[in-house]
Amino acid sequence: MIKENLEEVEQRIQAACRRAGRKREEVTLIAVSKTKPVEDLKEAYQLGIRTFGENKVQELTEKYEVLPKDIHWHMIGHLQTNKVKYIVDKAELIHSVDSLKLAETIEKETAKKNCIVSILIEVNVAQEESKFGVHTDEVIPLIEKIARFPHVRIQGLMTIAPFVQNSEENRTIFRTLQKLSVDIMQKNIDNVNVSILSMGMTNDYEVAIEEGATMVRVGTGIFGARDYSI
Ligand SMILES: *Cc1c(COP(=O)(O)O)cnc(C)c1O
Repeated sequence: MIKENLEEVEQRIQAACRRAGRKREEVTLIAVSKTKPVEDLKEAYQLGIRTFGENKVQELTEKYEVLPKDIHWHMIGHLQTNKVKYIVDKAELIHSVDSLKLAETIEKETAKKNCIVSILIEVNVAQEESKFGVHTDEVIPLIEKIARFPHVRIQGLMTIAPFVQNSEENRTIFRTLQKLSVDIMQKNIDNVNVSILSMGMTNDYEVAIEEGATMVRVGTGIFGARDYSI
């Protein structure tokens, strides 16, 4: 099942890249493996997947311990400050930085471990009450502050678009995030790069690629529906 799913996702990514006149290498597929057993991740690994996304610190660290060391782990879920210390040296990229307080904690923990961590700023483009992320107009002031932290590298922006029936409805959200990244780039802030755009999930990753996504986070489309009852 995972094999067929991955083949389909790969074909769709390629088709979206073609439509947008982009190269396939510009888009990284993140296999979102939250709630899924290690066996499923091993299967995806054997099929060539090296980048996995998890949304819980404990689950990420447990899987990290038992799976091959050449896996790139991405923290995509909301991160509590008291858990930062467990992942700063394990996650290659933290997608979900949405406050100065969280960035300060990341700086403190990376300094202690003498490492540098790459982060994305999570933007709540749709301004949904239920979602984490900073509002569009707060992004630049936040980035200007975080840019001063020596152990934190801002690499781009992330957004979680609303759940919609028709993925076209999210096109303006993705376009807004892309435009915001251009505005930030033009400010030429030291220590800040916003070349990564993490946007698009199972329901809308093709539209996101057409609008400039460089990372798509696909869970259900690869591993099937999640079961939260167990
Ligand atoms: C769960 C999750 C995904 C994957 O969602 P699917 O709809 O299953 O592809 C992507 N991004 C984040 C932040 C998630 O929490």
